[in-house]
Amino acid sequence: AKEPVRVLVTGAAGQIGYALVPMIARGVMLGADQPVILNMLDIPPAAEALNGVKMELVDAAFPLLKGVVATTDAVEACTGVNVAVMVGGFPRKEGMERKDVMSKNVSIYKSQASALEQHAAPNCKVLVVANPANTNALILKEFAPSIPAKNITCLTRLDHNRALGQISEKLNVQVSDVKNVIIWGNHSSTQYPDVNHATVMTPSGEKPVRELVKDDAWLNGEFITTVQQRGAAIIKARKLSSALSAASAACDHIRDWVLGTPEGTWVSMGVYSDGSYNAPAGVIYSFPVTCKNGEWTIVQGLAIDEFSRKKLDLTGVELTEEKELAYSCLS
Ligand code: NDP
Repeated sequence: AKEPVRVLVTGAAGQIGYALVPMIARGVMLGADQPVILNMLDIPPAAEALNGVKMELVDAAFPLLKGVVATTDAVEACTGVNVAVMVGGFPRKEGMERKDVMSKNVSIYKSQASALEQHAAPNCKVLVVANPANTNALILKEFAPSIPAKNITCLTRLDHNRALGQISEKLNVQVSDVKNVIIWGNHSSTQYPDVNHATVMTPSGEKPVRELVKDDAWLNGEFITTVQQRGAAIIKARKLSSALSAASAACDHIRDWVLGTPEGTWVSMGVYSDGSYNAPAGVIYSFPVTCKNGEWTIVQGLAIDEFSRKKLDLTGVELTEEKELAYSCLS
């Protein structure tokens, strides 16, 4: 029998956490034959609710779930974890400046960086979900220098999946037949959902999305803004932010990272930039990646047209500014 994988979920008593932990316990993240142990962390005001989530996990009698730790102690939560999904974060409340939210979150990620660095299992893979996700991940990386940079990522898979979903709806095709969209840059409204290399499997073979949609105005306009603003549209409709789709995307991100992407398919991940595609180096930037043997590689050599170039640069500038703001909050 396989050894259990220990998975940390921070902010586990929150909305995304509540959707995410049962998916992990059912094998959606790591496979239907992979036993798991869940380490759930939240802050003291959420301790009682967190314990309720633990009770429900017991009651669900998941065969793959070999143990549950529910704690408000970061060291206990981080000990021995192989995968860390960082969902906990300070929400932006009305009247709060961007700098205030940034300040709260970077200090959380700085302290969690130390707990992870000192207590996680070697080669622990980290996924940051809480916003500002790219910059929280960067701070985590900077303050956990012994964790390899390639092990620290942020979630743009939800944006990627939203882009697949929009193309599938527009063309009335199965979402599983659409692939190779790209989310470039920041998980924010400056992200660039790019369909220039995306294809759809049709009865007569693989076809470029641009050829099938035949509506460049839509692809260069409404499609992009719909994906960028989908989070706000969900909040308007549900009066709560997206949770099941965020949780599902977090599972997709880790699953593909650990188990590999299918041949000929790439996905979007926020990773430590080496300056590929002239993105700023030294920020966490979302790129198209393939994964094999537990490691991601940025897809190289894709043509970037002038329209795309501007958008890649714009979101890169925002990430550089966020990095500066984050450091000014820490000093
Ligand atoms: P959610 O579970 O809805 O969201 C958690 C985080 O994920 C937020 O930062 C949210 O950012 C972010 N996020 C990223 N992508 C998405 C997306 N597509 N849709 C929705 N959210 C997204 O928040 P809750 O408030 O329900 O839960 C947060 C938990 O974190 C609580 O249990 C709380 O106790 C805990 N917490 C932990 C802290 C700590 O570790 N020190 C500090 C504060 C809270 P955004 O809101 O900007 O969308």
